Amino acid sequence: SVDEIAASLQGYDPQALSATQVNEFLRELVDSVAFGHEITERIAVADSLGRVLANDVLSPLNVPAHDNSAMDGFAFDSQDLNADASTTLAVVGTAMAGKAWSGVCGRGHCVRIMTGAVMPAGLDTVVPHEFVALSGDLVSIPQGCVKPTDNRRLAGEDIALGSVALPKGTRLGPAGLGLIASLGSPTVWVHRRLKVAYFSTGDEVLSLGDAPREGAVYDSNRYTVSGLLARLGIEYIDLGVVPDDPVALQSAFEGAAVLADAVITSGGVSVGEADFTKAMMRELGDVAFWKVAMRPGRPMAVGAIAKHPKGAREGVFDEKSALGHRIHSLGRYANDSERQDAPASLQRSHALLFGLPGNPVAVMVTFLAFVRPALLRLMGSTESPPPLLKAQSVEAMRKKPGRTEYQRGVVSVSTSGQLEVKTTGSQGSGVLSSMVQANGLVVLHHDQGHVAVGDVVDVMMFDGAI
Ligand code: AMP
Ligand code: MG
Repeated sequence: SVDEIAASLQGYDPQALSATQVNEFLRELVDSVAFGHEITERIAVADSLGRVLANDVLSPLNVPAHDNSAMDGFAFDSQDLNADASTTLAVVGTAMAGKAWSGVCGRGHCVRIMTGAVMPAGLDTVVPHEFVALSGDLVSIPQGCVKPTDNRRLAGEDIALGSVALPKGTRLGPAGLGLIASLGSPTVWVHRRLKVAYFSTGDEVLSLGDAPREGAVYDSNRYTVSGLLARLGIEYIDLGVVPDDPVALQSAFEGAAVLADAVITSGGVSVGEADFTKAMMRELGDVAFWKVAMRPGRPMAVGAIAKHPKGAREGVFDEKSALGHRIHSLGRYANDSERQDAPASLQRSHALLFGLPGNPVAVMVTFLAFVRPALLRLMGSTESPPPLLKAQSVEAMRKKPGRTEYQRGVVSVSTSGQLEVKTTGSQGSGVLSSMVQANGLVVLHHDQGHVAVGDVVDVMMFDGAI
């Protein structure tokens, strides 16, 4: 349970968790619900960008399949190479890429060869054509311009037959797709796509198209969260804005938990919040309410919601209800080529819950710091978070030890070629324009104090995450 996991954290204090403790907790929590990993599907390599490998990909062949030439030039036996004089060889044939030369090359002979062509039997070295002097059928190789085995690629040098070309848990990028294709594999086994449901809470939150009203704000969190999820290749289930009303909240939480692997909400978790969000989380789930020692983003609710809670009412997913309709139209599986479903006993019984604060910047920062790594783990990815960059601060920053601060930063290359970082100015947790200007977050760690001009600070670059 959430309480047991939390209690296992060293120095657990729900009123002051460190960012590191939150991530530790989430690792444990994800591992306790991650049974859905057994659900895998075989899809075309062309469709697999961003997907996570469910199995090791073993190479059914050597890549490259044969020793071949890395250059256009002349292939010869390095035993013919004179150490202290130029070498003259007679050209006896031509090897093209995709069309091997099958003759036998005797002593003192060489074969004209193109890049990628199979090395003729017995030859081990290629001299690039721009290095040689050619007269009729005779090639003269100047002394010292080539060493034995130069410009020969070995069979299996990229990937050896039977070796693990890519380990399970790899999230496929463009290079991964190319590597799998180079093995001749048209399809690949991957974990199914994760599904995440999101809704905004708060009576003051307006949907696009609603008439503006005093004291109300347009819902931006729904758009930042859906974009952040899309960057992870996650299927997004949009449940809109849910008002501060127990019936609406219950049906949103229950519907979300049944359809999704994780539920994200924003708003309604701050202290003294006079709403039903926290009460409903408590009723339907196993949830911890924390104050995290960080800025922005102090309040958070984290835990799990049962997929079939006791209080589940008939008709919540009725096709006729507006919510039910939205869920059905948004929550479908893609039409996949092949699926292996886990036995029911191994299907997830709970959806993870991330109750994020309402402030737009706090939502993005807590997503990047906590939700993203947790979702990657839930997806089956074994990747470690990208390393933080070190950049010199061009400005002083005030910082109190005892909490982690994430300042929106702009990293650039200084005139002397060093990485430097400045902040985007106002660091208010509602200032979303700061996230647009920034290309990373300056991470001021838990124990760190003030930063002086010229100090080196850590930066979490947005890179492909935003
Ligand atoms: P809360 O955490 O609910 O107290 O919200 C903190 C602040 O974030 C308030 O000013 C809210 O109006 C604002 N807020 C909450 N939800 C959203 C949302 N979905 N989009 C934009 N702002 C929001
Ligand atoms: Mg609120």
